[in-house]
Amino acid sequence: MALTAQWAEAWIRECSQVLTEHRTALIELDRAIGDADHGENMQRGFAAVVAKLDAGGQETPGAVFKLTAMTLMSTVGGAAGPLYGTAFLRAATALGDAAEIDPAAVVGFLTAARDGVVARGKAEPGDKTMIDAWTPAVEAAGTAQSAGASAVEVLEAAANAAQAGALATEPLIARKGRASYLGERSAGHRDPGAQSSALILQAAADTAGR
Ligand code: ADP
Ligand code: MG
Ligand code: MG
Repeated sequence: MALTAQWAEAWIRECSQVLTEHRTALIELDRAIGDADHGENMQRGFAAVVAKLDAGGQETPGAVFKLTAMTLMSTVGGAAGPLYGTAFLRAATALGDAAEIDPAAVVGFLTAARDGVVARGKAEPGDKTMIDAWTPAVEAAGTAQSAGASAVEVLEAAANAAQAGALATEPLIARKGRASYLGERSAGHRDPGAQSSALILQAAADTAGR
C-alpha cells in the first residue's frame, strides 16, 4: 500500500499486535539483563495508542506519529517510553504535513527517529541498546534508497538490518540503561529494546507490503 496516513495507522496497529505476540519473549530478554518489564511496557504503550487511533482524526502520517509519540511518552514507564516517544516525535516533525511518504522521506523519517533516540539517550553504536538496531536500519535504508528501491523495499532493508543488529547485541557489554549495571554479565544476552525495535520496523515493512 502507499505510505499514507492509512498505512501509518496500519503500522501502529500491527505494532500493537506483534508486541502483544512477543510480550513474553521481550519480558524474558529483559529479565536476563534488566527488570523484566519491557514486553509489558511496549504492549501497554501501543495498546494505548490503538485506543486513541480508534477515535480517528489523524489525516497525515505525521499526525499518526505525533499521536503515537505523545501517547507512548505518557503511558510507557521506564526508559523505552521517552526513547520511542522521541523517535516518533522526530519522525513526525521530519514528515511535516506530507500526505504520502516517498522512498527518500522513508530514509528521512527513520534517520530523524534514530537521531531522536540518540539525542535523548546518548547511546553510541555498540553500547547494547536499541541504537544497535536503529543505526544499521538507517544505513541499510539509505543504501537501498540510493540504489533506487521502492518505499516498501527501503522499509524491508531497514527491518532486515535491524533484526541483524538486534542479534549482534548478544555478545556486547551494556554501557547504557539498566543493563549497564551488570557490566560484563550483560554479555551473552540480546538487548530487549533492540529486539522490539526490529519488530517495530518489521511491522512497518509488512504493512507497507500489503
Ligand atoms: P527500563 O530499563 O526502564 O525497565 P525498558 O525495559 O522498557 O525500560 O527498556 C529497556 C530498553 O531501553 C533497553 O533494552 C535499551 O534498548 C533501551 N535503552 C535504555 N537506555 C537507553 C539509552 N540511553 N539509549 C538508547 N536506548 C536505551
Ligand atoms: Mg525493563
Ligand atoms: Mg522498568
